[in-house]
Amino acid sequence: MAHVVFVGLGFGGLYTLRRLVDEVPEGTRITAIDKRDRFVFTPLLYEYLAGELEVDVVAPRFDTLIPSAEVELVQSLVTGVDVDERRVVLESGEAIDYDALVLAPGSVPAFHGVEGAEVHGIPFYSFDDAERLRTTLRVREWARGERPACVVGGGVVGIELAFALAEVLEMEGRREGVGPRVVVLEALEDILRGMSESVRRMTRRKLEEKGIEVRTSIRVLEVDEEGVRFENGGEQRFDVAVVAWAAGIRPNPLLESLPADRHGKHGVRVERTLQLPGHPDVFVLGDAVSYPGRAIGAPLPDTAQAAFQQSEVAAKNLHAWLTGRYPDEEYQYGHLGDFVRVSRREAVADIRGVVLDGGGASLARRAAYLFRMPDWAIRTSAIRQWLG
Ligand SMILES: Cc1cc2nc3c(=O)[nH]c(=O)nc-3n(C[C@H](O)[C@H](O)[C@H](O)COP(=O)(O)OP(=O)(O)OC[C@H]3O[C@@H](n4cnc5c(N)ncnc54)[C@H](O)[C@@H]3O)c2cc1C
Repeated sequence: MAHVVFVGLGFGGLYTLRRLVDEVPEGTRITAIDKRDRFVFTPLLYEYLAGELEVDVVAPRFDTLIPSAEVELVQSLVTGVDVDERRVVLESGEAIDYDALVLAPGSVPAFHGVEGAEVHGIPFYSFDDAERLRTTLRVREWARGERPACVVGGGVVGIELAFALAEVLEMEGRREGVGPRVVVLEALEDILRGMSESVRRMTRRKLEEKGIEVRTSIRVLEVDEEGVRFENGGEQRFDVAVVAWAAGIRPNPLLESLPADRHGKHGVRVERTLQLPGHPDVFVLGDAVSYPGRAIGAPLPDTAQAAFQQSEVAAKNLHAWLTGRYPDEEYQYGHLGDFVRVSRREAVADIRGVVLDGGGASLARRAAYLFRMPDWAIRTSAIRQWLG
C-alpha cells in the first residue's frame, strides 16, 4: 500500500490533498502533517483583524476540511526531511516513512537581524499573529493613548495591514487630526514594489485619506517595547503603540536539508512537474519553490495565487505517480491580478492590467477569494458575514 505524506497544509498542501482525496487511487494511505490545527486563508487575515470576518472563514480547523476516513491528520512540527531514506521526522523524534511526499511548508517571517524585532515586533503571518496584534493593540491603545501604530514594511502585506490597523483604531474611537493613526516605515524609495504605477498612485491617495503616514528610505535599526530606532540621514527614535513587522519572508528552514538548488532568498528549484530533481517521489510547491514555469532569473512570486495554481498540477502528477503513470502535467505561472484591501467597502485592484478602485474593486476582490475558499460552507459563512 503506497503511503503519501503531506507536510504543510496551507494553500499548496491542503488544496493538493483535497484534490487527491476526491480521486484517491485504491490502496493509498494518506498522512497529513501540520504544526498548526487550522488552515489560514492569509489574504483575509486583515478582515479578521478588523472584525469583519470570523475565525470559521479566515482560519477553519483542519478537522472540518479533511475527511478523517481517508486521511490521518497529525498535528506536529516536522523537524527533518530525509529524501534518501524517504522519511520525515517529527518534533517528538518519531520518524514517518513515505512512498511519496508532498512538501509545502511555506515561508517564515524575516527579521533581517534587526535588534529586538523578533521579540517586540509582531509579525503578521499566522492566525496567532493576528490574534496577538489585535489584543496588543487594544491593550496599548488604552494605555498609551494617541501614539500611532507602526508597520515596518511597505510591501502589499504592510500596506494592507496599515489600512486594517487604521480601521481598528478608528473603531476604537481614535480621534482624527492628532497626528497619524498609523505610520509605515519602508526601506525602499517607494511602497508596493512589483505593482503597477497606477495601483501605487491610487493606494498612496487612499493612505493619505485614511491618515496613514508613509516614510520611505528608512532603515530600521532596533525595535523595543516602546518604539523603533531608525536611520534616515541621521539616527532617530519614534515612540509608538505597537510595531507590526511586515518586512518580508524567508524560505522555511525545513528546506535547508534538501539536496536541491536554490534561487537567492527564494525556495528550491523543482521540475516543471513540481518534482524534486533526482527525487521524483517528492513534490514541492508553494512558497517553498522558486522557478518552475518561469525563465531562470525570474523567480515565482511567493503568493497564494501561485500555490493554488500549483496544487492542481501537483495533484494530477501525484495521482499519475501513484497509479504507475508518468507525471507529465507542467506548471506554468499565470498572473491573474493584484488586490489591495483599503477598508470594508474599498479596495484597489489590478485585474490583468485593468485598474480600478473603490466599491467595484472590493467586490472583485471578494469574488476572487470566494472562488478560492475551500468549500461551500465557508463561502456561505463569508457571504453572510460580509453582508452583515
Ligand atoms: C498577511 C498575508 C497576506 C497575504 N495575502 C496574499 C494575497 O492577497 N494574495 C496572495 O496570492 N498571496 C498572499 N499572501 C501570500 C500567501 O499566503 C503565501 O504565498 C501562501 O500561503 C503560500 O502557500 P504555501 O502552501 O506555500 O504556504 P502556507 O500557506 O504558508 O502553508 C504552510 C503550512 O505549513 C505549515 N508548516 C510550516 N512549517 C512546518 C513544519 N516544520 N512542520 C509542520 N508544518 C509546518 C504551516 O503551519 C502552514 O499551515 C499573503 C501572506 C500573508 C502573510
